[in-house]
Amino acid sequence: MFRTKTCGELRLANAGEQVTLAGWVQRARKMGGMTFVDLRDRYGITQLVFNAETNAELCEQSNHLGREYVIQVTGTVNERSAKNNKIPTGEIEILVSSLNILNTSDVPPFTIEDESDGGDDIRMKYRYLDLRRNPVRKNLELRHKFAFEVRRYLDSKGFLEIETPVLVNSTPEGARDFVVPSRMNPGQFYALPQSPQTLKQLCMVAGIDRYFQICKCFRDEDLRADRQPEFTQIDCEMSFVEQEDILQMFEGMSRHLFKTILNIDIPTLPRMTWADAMKNYGSDKPDTRFGMAFVELKNNQPDNASREIVESIFPEGFAVFDGAAYIGGICCEGQADYTRKQIEQLSEFMKRPKIGAKGLVYARVAEDGSVKSSVDKFYSQEVLQQVKEKFGAKPGDLILILSGEDAMKVRKQLCELRLEMGARMGLRDKNKFSCLWVIDFPMYEWSDEEQRLMAMHHPFTSPKPEDIPLLDTDPASVRANAYDMVINGVEVGGGSIRIHDAKLQQKIFEILGFTPEQAQLKFGFLMNAFKFGAPPHGGLAYGLDRFVSLFAGLDSIRDCIAFPKNNSGRDVMLDAPGYLDQKQLDELSLAIDIKE
Ligand code: ASP
Repeated sequence: MFRTKTCGELRLANAGEQVTLAGWVQRARKMGGMTFVDLRDRYGITQLVFNAETNAELCEQSNHLGREYVIQVTGTVNERSAKNNKIPTGEIEILVSSLNILNTSDVPPFTIEDESDGGDDIRMKYRYLDLRRNPVRKNLELRHKFAFEVRRYLDSKGFLEIETPVLVNSTPEGARDFVVPSRMNPGQFYALPQSPQTLKQLCMVAGIDRYFQICKCFRDEDLRADRQPEFTQIDCEMSFVEQEDILQMFEGMSRHLFKTILNIDIPTLPRMTWADAMKNYGSDKPDTRFGMAFVELKNNQPDNASREIVESIFPEGFAVFDGAAYIGGICCEGQADYTRKQIEQLSEFMKRPKIGAKGLVYARVAEDGSVKSSVDKFYSQEVLQQVKEKFGAKPGDLILILSGEDAMKVRKQLCELRLEMGARMGLRDKNKFSCLWVIDFPMYEWSDEEQRLMAMHHPFTSPKPEDIPLLDTDPASVRANAYDMVINGVEVGGGSIRIHDAKLQQKIFEILGFTPEQAQLKFGFLMNAFKFGAPPHGGLAYGLDRFVSLFAGLDSIRDCIAFPKNNSGRDVMLDAPGYLDQKQLDELSLAIDIKE
């Protein structure tokens, strides 16, 4: 046998046994006549001892072992005199009687230990060495377990895992596609799927009833910490269901995952309408680990988030507030001792182009209950007391207020402020989980760029039945049977009840600006299928990478992906993407001037 044990499994109870281990040399230390080697494999680290007194030649050999050499040793398990309680094998060591060097290694470009000295770039270039490190490997183990439990749960509910093709057609209305030229069809291109959306719907027409797939999806978008050009979805679809059936089924899956992987019992998921999420948190994925919901002090701009007009609490006098359509704020408990400098810094943070707030108004509630604010000169103490009441603020609290001409924009800025303050106040603990459903999304959102309504989820999402008449009169206010699962401010999944009626689907395409001919050209395959008895159906998809990184407490989804791409979409290890040679280009009928 190549090895009889792994480097992670020997304990004191094995003392006296003869064993053979294989692995990598993490470290070697020479101390007097003894050499100690830490031998590592996926399962752990075991200490090897070479003793010059018992075998001088072997000990001499061990002194030439370099870092990351691959070796095989045979020896006897021995109780250590100096025990290491930090590792599970810390009570024993192996007194080595034979050593076989299986492979040598160049000096690795960074230390392969829990705390590495390697920066991001070098570790990505040598990702296969980075993956030898415990913290990185652990994330992959968690990911495996996660995917395994997803399969176990869905299998127990009768879902079939079905593979859909990767070479498909370009999807209008989605993000940018990655495309693949077709050699056999010159001038034509496949697109890689942004999601198997239409295919899973066709599976429902096919009578599959319950489908899932853990699949790669591709979107050619600018990258951020929570985005990769290729990512993994847990894609699901069910027939003969209403929204409630789907929410229950997948709430069950989340409960199963939290329990089996983190041993956490999560409470029933609260449901928040999209309108309430926007009105109270300025986001369709609110972080509900903490409160600090918005308080509106003025709103004369009814929109999908709130139809209610709120008269300004402030009398005329301060031009910025007088001219604003919306004034709102948050109350930060116990933060009245924020210094002028800290507030200035916060105000600068809010003014960065990415957030774009104009200015930050603050009010501190003193111990005696009086309010001191940055707009003291415009308003009486009486008005400021009313503000305090509105926020339910107590002595010691800090009130932060933003205003502007576009209510939705200010809400989004307030969202950034709330998240920033939540982080500063230590309210965004990675070990605490707060899950919810956000429901009743609008069907459409206005695109300034396209100057038309766009599907907020995707064009196959069905409107809420009671809102269908509004499609003709006020499509922008129509709500969809669409839902997202949100955990700690991260959208981990989302989906909808679909349209299964070819006529309604046709109408939705029209509202999105497709002529019947264009709709037929792009989606004819789906609308034709719907003519053959499409069952009512719906589903959702989870972002596996995001879900796993939340479980692992990671800041970036990259850390739970074995071979991720960097922010420019490059795989620095494979050096991809790369140029093609002229012959390949010609075969693909691609006329490109290759730049060297
Ligand atoms: N295909 C959708 C997405 O990728 C999810 C769904 O509606 O099931 O977001």
